[in-house]
Amino acid sequence: MLPRGFVFSQSSLQDYVDCSRRFQLRYVQGQAWPGILAEPVLQYEEHMERGVRFHQLVERHQLGMDAQHLGELIDDPALLVWWRAYLGFDMLHGLVGRRYPEFTLSAELAGVRVSAMYDLLVVVPGERVVIFDWKTSLKKLPRQWFEARLQTRVYQYVLVAAGLSLFGEALRPEQVSMVYWVAGAPLEPVMFTYDRRQYALDGAYLESMVAGIVGRSSEDVWDLTADEMRCRFCEYRSLCGRGLAVGQLDEYGVDSANIAGEGVAFLLDDVQEVGF
Ligand code: SF4
Repeated sequence: MLPRGFVFSQSSLQDYVDCSRRFQLRYVQGQAWPGILAEPVLQYEEHMERGVRFHQLVERHQLGMDAQHLGELIDDPALLVWWRAYLGFDMLHGLVGRRYPEFTLSAELAGVRVSAMYDLLVVVPGERVVIFDWKTSLKKLPRQWFEARLQTRVYQYVLVAAGLSLFGEALRPEQVSMVYWVAGAPLEPVMFTYDRRQYALDGAYLESMVAGIVGRSSEDVWDLTADEMRCRFCEYRSLCGRGLAVGQLDEYGVDSANIAGEGVAFLLDDVQEVGF
């Protein structure tokens, strides 16, 4: 049984899609398990920390702090590269609207809550809301990778379902769009538009998924993924008997089947609920 008051998120739902056993271990049983998520370990940890710092910098900038002052605080050359690329993201900086960085919304679905923590929402009053999400991936990610992520569906769905308080009036799906900015390809943001049909499909899909999860017996061992490639970036490898080989950091996020991006997201979620 899930902990009382459990709130679903794109990370937990993605875990369930990738491997229901991982969802069970992580969220139903709360099983802590030491395991390296990617190698080289030091580089991986640096990348994690850099990702957190990048999100914090952007948040402060979007709250109105001076870009030059923020830039002077950066002592990491790789982070500086990301920061400068972000400052060159004209699509964002030219968009006129109210900024809501690191903003959380949640909606009820099938008797449970599903939340979304947005890196940034830009609200153009009376017109539309644009979701921005920062991916500090080392490589360009194909559009199909984003299409396959639960994040794309959950974030847009929750925004429409719960956006009244933010927007001041009911938000139509056509007024929502989502932009992924990738540090490894900063000039090629990946954009999605939304519509009524997709909203209905997402609602049915997510409702069916959460109802299925809630209805499962916690006594059983839930299915281990059949795709053992997904185990390379999972801390439960040794617990599941799925070998000791660890995935390489530079592989993460380029294969929609691997979970490293989400593994990083999970850890960052522990820190500050940011998408990665
Ligand atoms: S090691 Fe593999 S089977 Fe086990 S929880 Fe992780 S992804 Fe699932």
